[in-house]
Amino acid sequence: MDIDDDIPATGVDEVSNTVLPDIKGYQNKFWIMAPAGNDIGGSIYKNAMKFTTLLGENSTLDITCSDATVTPASVKLDGTAAAEATWHGTASETGDKEPGFKFNGNAVDLPIGVKVMKRRTVKVAVWLIPRLRANGTVDQLLYKPTQKELDDFLNSVYQPQVNMAFDCDVIETPPFKFDIADGTDFGAPAETLVPENGYLDTNNKGVAEETTLRDQWNDDKANVNVYIVGGVLGIRNRVWIESIHQLVSTGNFSLGHTDITRRSIFLVSSIATSDLQGLLDAVVHEVGHVILGPGHPDEVVKGKNSKGEIEWVNGGVAPLNGTQQDIRLMCSGRKRKKDGTARLLVKAEWDEAHSWCLSETKGDRMTP
Ligand SMILES: [Zn+2]
Repeated sequence: MDIDDDIPATGVDEVSNTVLPDIKGYQNKFWIMAPAGNDIGGSIYKNAMKFTTLLGENSTLDITCSDATVTPASVKLDGTAAAEATWHGTASETGDKEPGFKFNGNAVDLPIGVKVMKRRTVKVAVWLIPRLRANGTVDQLLYKPTQKELDDFLNSVYQPQVNMAFDCDVIETPPFKFDIADGTDFGAPAETLVPENGYLDTNNKGVAEETTLRDQWNDDKANVNVYIVGGVLGIRNRVWIESIHQLVSTGNFSLGHTDITRRSIFLVSSIATSDLQGLLDAVVHEVGHVILGPGHPDEVVKGKNSKGEIEWVNGGVAPLNGTQQDIRLMCSGRKRKKDGTARLLVKAEWDEAHSWCLSETKGDRMTP
């Protein structure tokens, strides 16, 4: 028996069971996500997938599952073509289920799990911020996504995989002077950094120019705040190293940076941004960091975790070493396709998305 998605990255994980058990993210079965609730159009939300078997012609697979309906409940298998089934969650809470199977009337154990996921709405405030220079010149954003473009793309990625619907609020702000940090923002002498230098200067502690933006524009009720700025070429991470008395830049500049703790995303819409699709792609990926945490599956290494133990680090919740990673939503920018096709979320990421929703319901930012 084999299972596949009907459309790639729409709620079937047939990848996580293909790695060795000691690989982070491994699952001992296939997983199907059964969405509860209605879709955006108000219809019962369903997830389609395909069964195939090489065993026998004219076989029947009967399926039962608590807290979910499957259609048809009796799948006809002809030994060659794939048979489609759709799943819908009927529970009011998210949970992992063990469906029961009968092959030609006999109970069989199949390594298939079903995760019923409750419908969740994620509120995102998106601030479009032109740069105001000291001489009064204004640098506009090169690409400005609309609310519909943001909602549609975020929904196309997250809705079929983790049953999250996005509600973006796009706010165009007046030109704002944010390219202003000097060395003192990093604990260095003022003259070590030219304030108006054409980059968004930041560090991993969320200081300097990111803080300037967040202090000015922030929606406390949103689950995520996204700041898209015009005028600067990229984001530079600066660190003052006292022992050598130097303010150093770590790595090359990037187009996106996420402050996970503050649920804030910073993006640059400039000549370095490929196009509008590239910007939307950066938004869905960075939102992924807020929901799923740091790390990229293609950057996993064996190293010390925060407790000093040796384990897989830098790979996020499911590096799944050895599998195709450039189709994953959380693949690093160096390898990920920017055309909107890198979108796959796997079971360990579905679980993490659920945990994040639970933490968001503790504030008043998400409906419990
Ligand atoms: Zn990333």
